[in-house]
Amino acid sequence: MENDFQGVLKGQKIAYFSMEIGLRNEIPTYAGGLGVLAGDTIRSASDLKIPLVAVTLVSNKGYFRQSLDVMGNQTEKIEEWTPSSFMTRMQQEVSVKIQDREVKIQAWQYNCKSLTGGCVPIIFLDTNVEGNAWEDRGITDFLYGGDHSYRLKQEIVLGIGGVRMLNALGFKVRKYHMNEGHSSLLALELLKCNNKDATKVKDLCIFTTHTPVEAGHDKFDYRLVEDLIRDKNDEEILRRFGGTDRFDTSLFALNLSDYVNGVTKRHSRVSSELFPGYSIQAITNGVHSYTWTSPFFRKLFDRYLPGWANEPELLVRIGGIPDDEIWQARRNAKKALIDEVNKRTGAGMDYETLTIGFARRMAEYKRATLILSDLERLRKINRRGRIQLIFAGKAHPRDEAGKQLIRDIFRSIETLRNEIKIVFLENYDMELAAKMVSGVDVWLNTPTRPYEASGTSGMKAAHNGVVNFSVLDGWWIEGWIEGVTGWSIGPRLEERLSGEEARLAELDDLYNKLYYIIVPTYYERRDEWFKLINNSIGMIAYYFNSHRMMRRYVTHAYL
Ligand SMILES: *Cc1c(COP(=O)(O)O)cnc(C)c1O
Repeated sequence: MENDFQGVLKGQKIAYFSMEIGLRNEIPTYAGGLGVLAGDTIRSASDLKIPLVAVTLVSNKGYFRQSLDVMGNQTEKIEEWTPSSFMTRMQQEVSVKIQDREVKIQAWQYNCKSLTGGCVPIIFLDTNVEGNAWEDRGITDFLYGGDHSYRLKQEIVLGIGGVRMLNALGFKVRKYHMNEGHSSLLALELLKCNNKDATKVKDLCIFTTHTPVEAGHDKFDYRLVEDLIRDKNDEEILRRFGGTDRFDTSLFALNLSDYVNGVTKRHSRVSSELFPGYSIQAITNGVHSYTWTSPFFRKLFDRYLPGWANEPELLVRIGGIPDDEIWQARRNAKKALIDEVNKRTGAGMDYETLTIGFARRMAEYKRATLILSDLERLRKINRRGRIQLIFAGKAHPRDEAGKQLIRDIFRSIETLRNEIKIVFLENYDMELAAKMVSGVDVWLNTPTRPYEASGTSGMKAAHNGVVNFSVLDGWWIEGWIEGVTGWSIGPRLEERLSGEEARLAELDDLYNKLYYIIVPTYYERRDEWFKLINNSIGMIAYYFNSHRMMRRYVTHAYL
């Protein structure tokens, strides 16, 4: 059966550009939420037969493999992988000009196939091509590696090279969707192919921004731009649409896209303040339901809610599944995680204790150590009802503050040894994420507002009946109903507090809710806990999934 959508597009595709894509654990071309979201986008597009083609860099040496010593010092190892074990090398070759060199680009094609019969091809651009200068062969080696110059070269390859490669491969493109500003140079190429007609290019481009703070947007000195691009006409275009001081990739994308969106309602408002005068819509993120549901719940949903994977709205009917079967699925997922923790660390965690999880990139704003701010209060909570904590996450190799967070967690683990079991698991990746978001009881999220544009790991947790306990930022503002879908941490949105006042309010709330609400509910009011599990699935997962998100992109942006 042909999809109507394919009829409308007459063989054309939506070209989805992303610097990172998290397709599967063995393909290490992602660093965190942005890449995993791109993977979920592709998986849902494939299931729903949305005619999409994705473009990214091959990142031959991955992001990095994290190892930690006994003090929590992170070292990074190269994550070598062999694209040829997963994908096909294409014959076509295109090139881009960098300085005075023609840099040749080839591509690998990976097909993301769905059981529904859908398929999304992913084009991995590779500059490791015979004839290229040695330094150019490495442009597509390291995801988020190197200096500004390296990054700009990557963006030239992704944006300009990506458009050329799609043409060379014979794709007819209806719209270009930029997942973050890294690929915005594609609009430069489109301008050149369309007689510099900005109206025409805007009609072709969609831009999704993910960064709620000024400093997070990629910007390049024009001296660097001039050195790498060396074309007066191109520079003139970049300055006209990308800012006069520095080349701002997000601004460039904003000025050349008819449809622009943030990744949650709150984030689109924050972005509108950051870029006054632009109309910025909201399409709230989601996660791929099947991918992020543990095998134990998949089996249960298959039996009671057949078709749920391609129609996650069906999860709204979770109430029809007997509580004891849901509890058994929860126990099995928890056992799988705790066994893994004990195997890796010898921590001797048990299946009964209330288990709290925190795992994400170790970026400062995510505040991994907030719950460890006052160990005395944590001890008091543990005396009321036992708790155990599981952490994981990589710090970017050049992020010293992020690396310090890991050391701080290790120090607290040491201080609380023999009192509270806490572990930090090495090398957070998609596989470990899937185990953690399904195996803990409570998923903790404590970002500094408004830095968490969306966040998605809490949505994964909800798919597994894991209860969210989170600062009111990003997606949680839309998912949260106090005591019904989980709990908030700290001030309501409308309360205007200074940074330090907010932090203290958050700390108080964090410890108080653990002591007075979460621990007693878990140990003494199991029926209430069942309701929270049910509501996480029936009121969060049914909505915060990438099938709903992609249907939105289709009706609001792609058509
Ligand atoms: C989902 C996921 C993330 C994103 O988590 P946030 O809580 O949104 O920061 C990061 N890394 C991995 C491996 C993931 O699976």
